[in-house]
Amino acid sequence: MPCARTVGIMVQLIASRMSRNDWIRMGKLLEIMDQQHGIVLTEQQESLLFDDLHAIMEINQTMNLTRILSEEDGMVLHLEDSVLGLPYVQAAPEGLYGDLGTGGGFPGIPLCILTGRETLLVDSVKKKVRALEPVAETLGIGDALSTYGGRIEDLALERRGMFSVLTARALSSLGSLLELASPLLREGGRLVCYKAQPSDEELDTAFGIMKPLGFKLVCDDAHELSDGSHRRIFVFEKVGDARIELPRRIGMAQRNPLTAADFKAKSKPKARKNRRRA
Ligand code: SAH
Repeated sequence: MPCARTVGIMVQLIASRMSRNDWIRMGKLLEIMDQQHGIVLTEQQESLLFDDLHAIMEINQTMNLTRILSEEDGMVLHLEDSVLGLPYVQAAPEGLYGDLGTGGGFPGIPLCILTGRETLLVDSVKKKVRALEPVAETLGIGDALSTYGGRIEDLALERRGMFSVLTARALSSLGSLLELASPLLREGGRLVCYKAQPSDEELDTAFGIMKPLGFKLVCDDAHELSDGSHRRIFVFEKVGDARIELPRRIGMAQRNPLTAADFKAKSKPKARKNRRRA
């Protein structure tokens, strides 16, 4: 539950539709992150986060980067939401971070700002990720951040096992994310998934295939954003090899997602063959 003070701040903010400069001056994001989520940011970090949001909103006027159209909404639905993942990314082993299906750079750019990790923003729409490069330069994180304009499945062929941590927000079902992330992560690496309200069916499918894809679940945390919307963050750790060859053909992970039955079906013929040999 948000504390009375936070509720007061939110009412005030919604009522006044503050400008970006007002937000920064009054340190609202700092306060919300600290009081509601226990995440402490510096004023300099907050200022960079707003610069990022502002830049993305500017680009969004001519290119479809995000469906969120105002900076006020973006402050909660992009910045607050993105920063929620910070402790989970920090808890992953050191090394390369990738934001899968980054769109307008969320949560990738905020998390690059806050962690300083070497970061790769991945999106199949090349012009989207190209538009993010000058934003990173302006924010002073150009050295840490690079982009990949292509499919996650192709990235997996080029940079297999090279990532220590991946994030994915509003990209695909949990099961598809596990499949896409599996070949990219090194052992001990973590996949941080931002979800709104996944259905029981989505969860059953994901939990049914996580082991054969080489994962174990390490976190399933519920959060409430300051606008009252609900989030769940799932973190999976890569603990071994997947039992099938990955990546599958382009598009298969999302169009034709794996289920536990696929792995059962695969193990049966092998078992029969072994019996015949014995
Ligand atoms: N993470 C952002 C954008 C979500 S929209 C946010 O939360 O705001 C999903 C994005 O994923 C789109 O930009 C789409 O182009 C990209 N995408 C979907 N499937 C992909 C794939 N297989 N490989 C790379 N990018 C993909």
